[in-house]
Amino acid sequence: MKSQITRRDFLKVSGGAAGVLAATGVFGGALKPEAVLVDNRPRWIKETFTICPYDASGCGFICYTDNAGRLVNLEGDPDHPINRGGGCSKGAAMAQIHNNSRRLNKVLYRAPNASDWEEKSWDFALDAIARRVKDTRDENWITTNSSGKLVNRVDAIAHVGGAAHDNEECYLLIKMLRALGLVYVEHQARI
Ligand code: SF4
Repeated sequence: MKSQITRRDFLKVSGGAAGVLAATGVFGGALKPEAVLVDNRPRWIKETFTICPYDASGCGFICYTDNAGRLVNLEGDPDHPINRGGGCSKGAAMAQIHNNSRRLNKVLYRAPNASDWEEKSWDFALDAIARRVKDTRDENWITTNSSGKLVNRVDAIAHVGGAAHDNEECYLLIKMLRALGLVYVEHQARI
């Protein structure tokens, strides 16, 4: 006589077999959830959140650094609303900015006609920039164009922004630059 196996019987038998296989270690223990969740990262790694500086998408990344401050891993932030863990190869190249022996950490200044660079303070650098902006603006101010129209601008200074600037920083920058009379205002990702 031919035996009848119902769908319920089949599930009971196959479920029991899977349980036996898992209990005996067949599948190499891959069914154990704790084996999947093991965190292999060394405990001394520090997590820091940052924004990719390369384009206006502003993807969020998580940087992992060791005790010496070296960047040892970089990955898209899964909780970031823009990229949700993704990131392009250009973003992954951010590591080159950090792990770069040529990266400058101090202000260097080379005086006109000098051949050597000198270390200077940030106060020196900011005063020097402000002085040059003021002098260049005063020397190149354009009140009217060739048609006699009032333009109040300066063409001798340009400003390049960066993708890491947020909305509020861009707002303040544009207010300042337009007040100075600049018309050449660009973004680094468009160059
Ligand atoms: S360069 Fe790539 S990772 Fe960086 S903000 Fe643009 S899309 Fe995102």
